[in-house]
Amino acid sequence: MGDSMKEVVETLDPVTRHIIPDSIDIGTLVPLKTTLELRDNLSIDYAYVTRAPTKLTNEVVNVVRGMVGDDQAKNLPHLRRCSKPADLPPHLKNQFMNEGSNGRTIHTGKSQYLYIMLGPQDEMDYGELSAGLSAIDGIGEDLFIGLIQIPLFAPTSQVQANAWSQQFWQTVYRKNNPLGPHPSNICRTTSVVSRDASIWMTLAHQIARKSHKAGYGEPVGAVIIKRTVPSNKTDMVKNEANKADDTGAESTQGDTSDTGTANLEDVKAELATADDTKAKGQTADEKETTQIVALAGDARWCRQERTGHTGNPMAHAALRAISMVAQKLVRAENREPAASNPILEFEAFQDQPLLSDEQVVFDAEHPSPDGYLCHDLELYMTHEPCTMCSMAILHSRMGRIVFRHRMPLTGGMSSEDRGYDLCGDDSICEDGPCGGGKGLGLHWRKELNWSMLGWEWETDQAERLSVNPHLHA
Ligand SMILES: [Zn+2]
Repeated sequence: MGDSMKEVVETLDPVTRHIIPDSIDIGTLVPLKTTLELRDNLSIDYAYVTRAPTKLTNEVVNVVRGMVGDDQAKNLPHLRRCSKPADLPPHLKNQFMNEGSNGRTIHTGKSQYLYIMLGPQDEMDYGELSAGLSAIDGIGEDLFIGLIQIPLFAPTSQVQANAWSQQFWQTVYRKNNPLGPHPSNICRTTSVVSRDASIWMTLAHQIARKSHKAGYGEPVGAVIIKRTVPSNKTDMVKNEANKADDTGAESTQGDTSDTGTANLEDVKAELATADDTKAKGQTADEKETTQIVALAGDARWCRQERTGHTGNPMAHAALRAISMVAQKLVRAENREPAASNPILEFEAFQDQPLLSDEQVVFDAEHPSPDGYLCHDLELYMTHEPCTMCSMAILHSRMGRIVFRHRMPLTGGMSSEDRGYDLCGDDSICEDGPCGGGKGLGLHWRKELNWSMLGWEWETDQAERLSVNPHLHA
């Protein structure tokens, strides 16, 4: 063990020091890509636009709000709500000035009209929309509703924003990464996690091997830890949050949309943790600490006949580990633990410790038994978790995930396409090629309302834990 690693080990909690092996396998962290980062982000949809005298803009927007709420504006913060006739892209200018009885007038001289983007076509009923707009005093017979193409996702550069403004509709670049976590957040967190990630990964490998050797399950392991950021880092995080706020607050003319981003939420979540630390009276010179919260090997074959090839899905390593965290939280509330002799003939949740290492970690109290389930905790796994576990991890509000072996056919975290040539086991795939399709990239999906930072751990030191490529880890 190198000197720097020894130093890190000395800061670990006694439970961890008791169970970690003498030799730590060193690896490096590679951030996971999001689905948006890997795919063409020019996804086009159709949207309705109307035009109205400038003074009626609010009434028009209110009609839209009455129909679809504020949500659609929140989802399209990169598009301006309003555009002067002169600022329309050339092809729209040509098209729209020739439509309607007053088109020419509107596009000549000092127009008092604005074009207003109403929202995606498939979210609004045309009949309802035209009835609502016609009812506004001053629009009536001059009602105009046009259909335009809009880019659904935010641009990634000013150049792209300019191009889209010419091609589709006025587009705003907000200097963040709309396709994934903020680069500065990834960078900072990678350096924090890199300090001890190898310890947790070595531990995950160790429990995976032990559980496999004992016949409980496949060689898959999971470790959950709690990282406590000392208060002197709070200010740094706060600055980061303010920076994100600044870029988000860039004003947009006539645009009432919310500028909040998932990235900002990331930073704020960190901030909450840091403040939490401060509240507990830690001093500025205190070091960052980590504590192990749960340790679990896969147990899909425990008390389970070896029929079929999936075993008990509730006993996947990630689910067992999360369940152990839940039990600690319940214990901390001084409630009685669940009956240890279940009446069920078959106990689906193999979430009691099976191995002595699991037991030692399980017996230790939760370092900070407040907050929702796994909020802001870190999960280290030998293998990329399956789709089911990935969603469970997401629902538990895990803050970060690191895994080693990618599972291209069954994993839920990676965003890369699932190739057809990844299995190589003709005996299983006699019906033709398996796999294919798009990776789910569940660690960071805008629409899932929670995002994690994720990494793959690359090493040439730790022994590979080979499993069937069809295995759901
Ligand atoms: Zn799983």
